Amino acid sequence: MIGKNNIYDPNTTLETMTKCCRSTCDRYISQQGGNRMSQPFFNDHCSLYCWKISSVPSIISYAEKLVAQDPLKPNPPIEHNCECCGSKFTLNYAHNWANQIFCSKECQHKTYSGKRIKHTIKILQFLKTKQLIDSTSSVLTGSDNTYESELRAGNHTTPIPTGWTAAEISYKLNSVHPTLMLTPGGVVQRILPLLAKGYICKVPKKSEWSREPTQYYFNPAHQSEPIRSLIHRKV
Ligand SMILES: [Zn+2]
Ligand SMILES: [Zn+2]
Repeated sequence: MIGKNNIYDPNTTLETMTKCCRSTCDRYISQQGGNRMSQPFFNDHCSLYCWKISSVPSIISYAEKLVAQDPLKPNPPIEHNCECCGSKFTLNYAHNWANQIFCSKECQHKTYSGKRIKHTIKILQFLKTKQLIDSTSSVLTGSDNTYESELRAGNHTTPIPTGWTAAEISYKLNSVHPTLMLTPGGVVQRILPLLAKGYICKVPKKSEWSREPTQYYFNPAHQSEPIRSLIHRKV
């Protein structure tokens, strides 16, 4: 559970830090500390921008065309959907923009309005992004995860994404957002209403008697909905 590239660990040096896997990017991956490039989602990429331009099939081919036309610009702007209003905006490579999820300051403020909403937003963003990474990589590699094979054997057709425990979620988010001070219990508290609405699901346990901690994942059916509509929608 140790975060990658822990800048507070005295054993971490520039040599042991991992670089972004995009050949045209020389930034390091930071999953610790609250700077603009710190993010808790991507293990091989430095940012949302680098992950998306090398993982989403339609964006890969779009960007390849642009770079072929202009090889001196290996980091063309790409599209992303705003997590508030849902409209497309331009996601840029520059370090202070590469993890942008809102089209504007207004949309960011609208989403974060409300008491103690920040924890819920960060948990949703974490699980939603992890689900997206998961589904994209299984499309690219065509690989099955264990649950998927098990479910197939049981005649179910929907693959179950990788789940995350409350302890893992709080650890990952606190590493990048230390002021959240999330506890595993606090994560469960915030997940409960999201479970009731079906935005988050539990990975089925292998047996009724299993004492493994519950793992949660984002319901893929809601992947295209902006985070704001999941939080502020009246049900
Ligand atoms: Zn990168
Ligand atoms: Zn917006």
